[in-house]
Amino acid sequence: MFLTFLGANGTVTGSKTLLETAGGRLLVDCGLYQGPREIRALNWAPFPLPPEQVTSVVLTHAHLDHCGYLPALVRDGFAGPVLCTPNTAELASIVLRDSAKLQEEDADFAQRKGFSRHAQPRALYGLLDAEQAIALFRPIEFGREFPALPDITGRFDPAGHILGSSLVTLTDGSKTVVFSGDLGRANHPLLIAPSPPPVTDAIVIESTYGDKEHPDHDAELEEMASAITRTIRRGGTVVIPAFAVDRTEVLLGVLRDLQDTQRIPKVPIHVDSPMALAAMRVYRAAITDGDPEIRTAAIAEGPGIIEPQHLFEATTPDESKQLDLGGARIIVSASGMGTGGRVVHHLKALLPDPCNAVILAGYQAVGTPGRSLLDGARELKFHGHYVKVRAEIFNVGAFSVHADSSELVDWLRSGERTPEQVFVVHGEPEASAALARRIGIELDVVAVVPAPSERVAIY
Ligand SMILES: [Zn+2]
Repeated sequence: MFLTFLGANGTVTGSKTLLETAGGRLLVDCGLYQGPREIRALNWAPFPLPPEQVTSVVLTHAHLDHCGYLPALVRDGFAGPVLCTPNTAELASIVLRDSAKLQEEDADFAQRKGFSRHAQPRALYGLLDAEQAIALFRPIEFGREFPALPDITGRFDPAGHILGSSLVTLTDGSKTVVFSGDLGRANHPLLIAPSPPPVTDAIVIESTYGDKEHPDHDAELEEMASAITRTIRRGGTVVIPAFAVDRTEVLLGVLRDLQDTQRIPKVPIHVDSPMALAAMRVYRAAITDGDPEIRTAAIAEGPGIIEPQHLFEATTPDESKQLDLGGARIIVSASGMGTGGRVVHHLKALLPDPCNAVILAGYQAVGTPGRSLLDGARELKFHGHYVKVRAEIFNVGAFSVHADSSELVDWLRSGERTPEQVFVVHGEPEASAALARRIGIELDVVAVVPAPSERVAIY
């Protein structure tokens, strides 16, 4: 079999790997490129092969950078099954509908305000395309073998990254390839730890934090609690840009814990993202139903584990706008890197006031507003308009749901047998290169960062 690396090479978004056999062509993940304009432009490039020649798609999880290109693939001719776990199917449906809506709204907004470079800004895809993609989802439980191609058997195992996230094992009976997808950490408060890698010849592994170690969790939480307390005491608003799926749930669980232990004042906490609210319902149901992916302790506690006191759900745009008036409150809003969604309006309104604070609680890709804040930008441009950054900016690494460098290497070691070949993807160039070097030395195996569109043979 052959692998061709079609996305997330030298960047953390746009995950797509093609697996070809005599029996057909399978795409592992079908992600959207996100971040700076030059990266997003890749979404508009013609797909490297006619989409109707792709037999099936396998999704590792529901994040947009792993499933967000599907509606475009389907519109352009793909009609095969999209294989994923039941929770991924449910969350990806929410994510794709939201993405389509945002694409349509952004094109519309750019046209009205006239700040697009294009005379007629178009959406990459629309709601109808998203619905057609969702109709192709074929949910398959963890641990069950399924035909991924006529000559390839697949299996999903928990990856501990977000609800439904999976490692994917694909085998033709003689050779096996495992895809890590995004790999979680053993300390996720709601999800069970990632499964060890199955016995395999090759692994395609992510490297978001391939050159970093996560800071001490408790110390970081302490710092976050004091930042929130300080901001609230001076009457300011705390804005937390959060990925709608999983990060919001983890954050709410932590805020609840900080409230319970009197480490932060009990002020209103607003979840302001329709997608986050929809995802919360899926998480609540998984906790209530005792889903096998959920930790026993979380099941025992029930959905209250992600519900702090004074939690408010902002559903309408008017409720969202009210929050920009400021005052002692916490706003948790998507998107996580400030690239779109309602959080953009909150940042635009609240960054100029030194009373307020922004807490960055996740990975901030190069070229995003979140990364600029992290790097100390004093001015930021939103919707073609500059605002002054006077609010306090905090970075809290404790919320990462990606394994760090040592955790990735330990995970590779935790299998029964070390694979002979490791392909490092899904990282910025330095992160991927550092991880490949480390794996090559410590595990003494072939460890390479494939070039964009590079094709390799597994035999
Ligand atoms: Zn992810």
